[in-house]
Amino acid sequence: MSAQNSPAAPAPTTVTSTVGAGFGTDGGYRNAIGPPLIFRHPSSLEHDTGAHPERADRIRALDAALSEQDWLGYEPRAAPAAGEEALLAVHPRAHVDAVRRHCETGTAFDLDTPTSPGSWNAALHATGGAIALVDALLDGEAPTGFSALRPPGHHAEADRAMGFCLFANISVAARHAIDVRGAERVLILDWDVHHGNGTHAIFHSAPEVLFASIHQWPFYPGTGALGDAGSGAGEGFTINLPVPRGSGEDEWLALVEHVVVPAARSYRPDLILVSAGFDAHRDDPLAECNLEAVSFAHMALHVRSLADELGVPAGAVLEGGYDLEALTASVAATMEALSSGGVPRTVEPGPLVTAVAEQVGRYWPDVGG
Ligand SMILES: [Zn+2]
Repeated sequence: MSAQNSPAAPAPTTVTSTVGAGFGTDGGYRNAIGPPLIFRHPSSLEHDTGAHPERADRIRALDAALSEQDWLGYEPRAAPAAGEEALLAVHPRAHVDAVRRHCETGTAFDLDTPTSPGSWNAALHATGGAIALVDALLDGEAPTGFSALRPPGHHAEADRAMGFCLFANISVAARHAIDVRGAERVLILDWDVHHGNGTHAIFHSAPEVLFASIHQWPFYPGTGALGDAGSGAGEGFTINLPVPRGSGEDEWLALVEHVVVPAARSYRPDLILVSAGFDAHRDDPLAECNLEAVSFAHMALHVRSLADELGVPAGAVLEGGYDLEALTASVAATMEALSSGGVPRTVEPGPLVTAVAEQVGRYWPDVGG
């Protein structure tokens, strides 16, 4: 069945992207000749969270492991600071001002979300890296890329910092793709083990973003129930896929292969972004799922394969992941899979897919496997 059978889905014939040479039916992105890009910035080390799992050592460990491997063929680039206009397209000015004030005085937003004087610059560059990644992808400069900065962003709501997150990095980047770069549809796959409540809330009523999240359930932050499919014009464009603790590669891959990919194929995004958290790894101290580094490579191969099929670029933005060894191995596996491509591992749909198929299939009839 096609998306035209789905009341909430846009008809495929409406695909008329005209933005530059970056993507669209001219296949501009396929002609990208540059290497994949990795965005970083030293300010990520200046966001001082004290004794906290979301700490500067995450970036130090990533930088050390990746630089030893010559960045896996990625070209390192300095992430610029996000401009005020891009931030204000998602966050009210009061929130931007609140983040600045909290950072100046090193005041925490809550127990999870401390700040320091260096956090302001770190937060601006973490968002700016995601925006620069989107620009590079849509310009056809690179076929894929990774924004490897902190603090993460997917828990930050438009007017609320929480869950280690100050600004909604990937949401600001997606909004930039739509408002400034003319993308009509953006897929955000959030494979962090926690529900991306910020991204979810920001695009809850927005059909221009298809937000699909796989997350341990029940778990922090408590949002992301299967039945919450978005609202208003955005109904159907939120796909929440809760998984029980202990879920492993087969369960996660089945949801990617048999739910996210078929829905995304019908949606036909101009751009694919991944909220790439690595805390579903079995060694992560904050969660109880059982992925391995290679599991993230398999998910990334599905993303790359979908991107190739649709002729659109795909990039990843770092979210969580708190065991340093698991984090570095998983990021490397993801980067390699995104840049090399290849045939993704396929699995049987299994009981989790059966459990979600009726709900998600209401909006995306191809879902179900
Ligand atoms: Zn997380």
